[in-house]
Amino acid sequence: MLKGKVAVVTGGTRGIGYAVVELFLKNGASVALLGSRQETVDKALAKLKETNPDWPVVGMAPDLTDYAAVEATMNAVKAQFGRIDILVNNAGISAREPLMQYDPAAFDNIIRLNVNAVFNGCRAVAPIMKEQGGGSIINTSSMVSLYGQPSGVGYPASKFAVNGLTKSLARELGRSNIRVNAVAPGVTRTDMVAALPKELLERVSAPIPLGRVGEPEEVANCFLFLASDMASYVTGEILSVDGAAQT
Ligand code: NAD
Repeated sequence: MLKGKVAVVTGGTRGIGYAVVELFLKNGASVALLGSRQETVDKALAKLKETNPDWPVVGMAPDLTDYAAVEATMNAVKAQFGRIDILVNNAGISAREPLMQYDPAAFDNIIRLNVNAVFNGCRAVAPIMKEQGGGSIINTSSMVSLYGQPSGVGYPASKFAVNGLTKSLARELGRSNIRVNAVAPGVTRTDMVAALPKELLERVSAPIPLGRVGEPEEVANCFLFLASDMASYVTGEILSVDGAAQT
């Protein structure tokens, strides 16, 4: 579904981002995966090369909150692979602190990664996509971007902002044939969720209509759809992948 396309995936070293990288590679894309540290990037690259040594995949660890670093990375990927068709803005952190224990510096920190880094990625890749006639940007939102959550307000606030960036940039960049969508996962079995005690996981799963948490691969399938030409008339969409947890 992505033969000949080039993708950049932030937060591609583990969890949902890693599943997206692997699925994009299986579908014929060349991929640049970005992570927070070169060491974890190299580990992810080694794991992918173990699965298939011929996969065209590279990795870097720029500071995503620094626009100049993001722009330099996009230009380096373009120099290496010739183009960028897909950008997945997936790197993100969450928060749980109640308001009165929430350090203002931590609020600033989460906004810088979950929001500013998404802006930086979109701004840096847009001229490249424009010049080549279009592209697809997919941001990772969350089910909490619809209803909020009862603590850790920085996290839902950041994901509401991701939805705002998605819907607004879909309008702004549509004429350049750049589609901008988001995937809003529910509780997904990444390392953190997998480490929860069995009883807690059961309690979390019980109210979900599908009766279980999602797998990273199930979330990745939706990124693949939105990245591909199958979604050529889909833009400005926030696609929930949460087993109807919030309906
Ligand atoms: P994870 O913690 O397993 O992976 C996070 C990724 O982001 C890693 O690759 C890490 O290197 C990268 N990252 C973290 N801090 C970074 C930084 N400062 N600079 C650059 N990269 C950084 O997380 P995940 O659960 O796979 O989450 C991925 C995305 O999905 C996030 O945006 C998260 O908010 C969203 N999400 C996750 C769930 C869930 O249940 N797992 C639910 C809804 C939304």
